[in-house]
Amino acid sequence: MTDQGNNLDRWYGHYADRTSGLAASEVRALFAVASRPEVVSLAGGMPYVSALPQELVTAALERVMHDSGSVALQYGSGQGMPALREHILEVMALEGIRASVDDIVVTTGSQHALELVTKLFINPGDVVLAEGPSYVTAMVVFKSFQADIQHVPMDEFGLIPEALREHVARLKAEAKRIKFLYTVPTFSNPAGVTLTWERRLQILEICRANDILILEDNPYGLLYFDGQPPHAMRSVEEEGVVYLGTFSKTLAPGFRVGWVLAPHAIREKLILANEAAVLSPSSFTQHVIKEYLSVADWRAQIDTFRGLYRERRDAMLSALHDYLPDLSWTNPAGGFYVWVTLPDNLDSKSMLPRAVKELVAYTPGTAFYANGGGRTSLRLAFCYPTPEFIREGVRRLSTVINGELELLTTFAQTAPLPVARPEATMINPPANLG
Ligand code: PMP
Repeated sequence: MTDQGNNLDRWYGHYADRTSGLAASEVRALFAVASRPEVVSLAGGMPYVSALPQELVTAALERVMHDSGSVALQYGSGQGMPALREHILEVMALEGIRASVDDIVVTTGSQHALELVTKLFINPGDVVLAEGPSYVTAMVVFKSFQADIQHVPMDEFGLIPEALREHVARLKAEAKRIKFLYTVPTFSNPAGVTLTWERRLQILEICRANDILILEDNPYGLLYFDGQPPHAMRSVEEEGVVYLGTFSKTLAPGFRVGWVLAPHAIREKLILANEAAVLSPSSFTQHVIKEYLSVADWRAQIDTFRGLYRERRDAMLSALHDYLPDLSWTNPAGGFYVWVTLPDNLDSKSMLPRAVKELVAYTPGTAFYANGGGRTSLRLAFCYPTPEFIREGVRRLSTVINGELELLTTFAQTAPLPVARPEATMINPPANLG
C-alpha cells in the first residue's frame, strides 16, 4: 500500500494490506437495486421468517424479560450459554453428530465463526481449498486474511474427490501450505448440490492422509425436501473437522446466533478469539432462542419451513422447465438455491443490468469464484418470493436470456467477421449516437 491519499478517501494510504481483499461482493451491490418492490429478486438468500410463529417468539421474549431479564441483558460467557449449547446438541443430533457441550462455541451467526476460524489458521499466502463454486461471503473472509483460495471442482454429487487428490498433490509439489478445506456439503450455497455419503468418506480420508483440516459449513442440512440427506461429515470424524451451524435458516437470522463445534484444542483458541472480538455473543438473543426451543415444537416448525421451501423449489424448477427448457440447472433436494448454466456465449455478469431493467435479479456465477470462473452460470434463490413471483421472475429472466441470444444471433448474421479480421473487433458507435 502506498501512503498517498486519493481524492475520495483521505486515509487511503493507511489501510492494512489485508483490506485489498475487501471489495463489495456482487450480492451486496445487488441488494440496493433488488430490494425495490417491483423487482422479483431471485438474488439474495433471505429466509422466509414470516412463516415463523410470531406469537411464540414474542412469548419467548416476554418470558426472558420477566424471568431472567437481568442476566439476559448482561454480558455473558465467551463460549456461549450452557443451556443453549445443550439445545444445540439436540439440533446437531438430527444430523448424526454426537458431541460434548464443552466443544461448542456460540458465535454471532456462522459468518462470525468463519471469520474466527480463518483468523486462527490463515497467514497471508496460506492455501484455502474451497469447492468451486463457493459461498461468496466465506471467500470475502478468506481474502481478507490474504488466503490463496484454490477451487476444487464439484459436480451434481458435490466436491469431486479425484480432483481434490490432484489439487493437493499439485499444491504440495509447489510447497504450498494447505490449511483447510472449506465445504458446504449439504444443499450447497450456491450450487444446491449435496455431497454423497461415499464421497464424504473419501474426502475425509484424503484430508486425514494429507493433514488438512475440514471446515464443514452446514446452514441448510435440516431443510430437506425429498428425504434426509447424508449425515454430516463431523458425524464420522471428530479431530479433523471444524463444524459450523446456525439458527439463521431454521429459525431467524436476525438473532445472529450460530456456533462452532471444534476439537478441544481449537475450541480453546476459538473462545479466546471470540472474547477478543465481541467479549460474549449476545446474551439476549441466546436467551430468547433457548426459551423458544424449550417451549415451541421447533422440529414441527422446521417441517413447516421444509414444506414451504419445497413448494418454492418446485415452482422454480417447473418455471425453468417451461420458460427456459434449453438451459441446464441443478436439482436441489433441499436448501435455498438452484445453479443455472447458460449457453457458452452468454455472460451472466454483463447480462445483469438488463435483467434488473426487466425487473428480475439473480446473482452472477462470478460472485462464487475467487478466480474469475462462473461467467456462464448464475444462482437463483427460491427461498423468499412466493411461488407466483418465482414463476414471474423466471419468465422475466427468460425474456432477458432469449433477448440476449437473439441479439447475438442477429449480430453474428450482420457482423460475422470480428474474429477473422482483428481490426473489426473495435466497434465504434455511429456518429449520430454521440
Ligand atoms: N455459510 C453459508 C453457506 C451461508 O449460506 C450463510 C448465509 N447465507 C452463512 C454461512 C452465514 O449465515 P449466518 O451468519 O446467518 O449464520
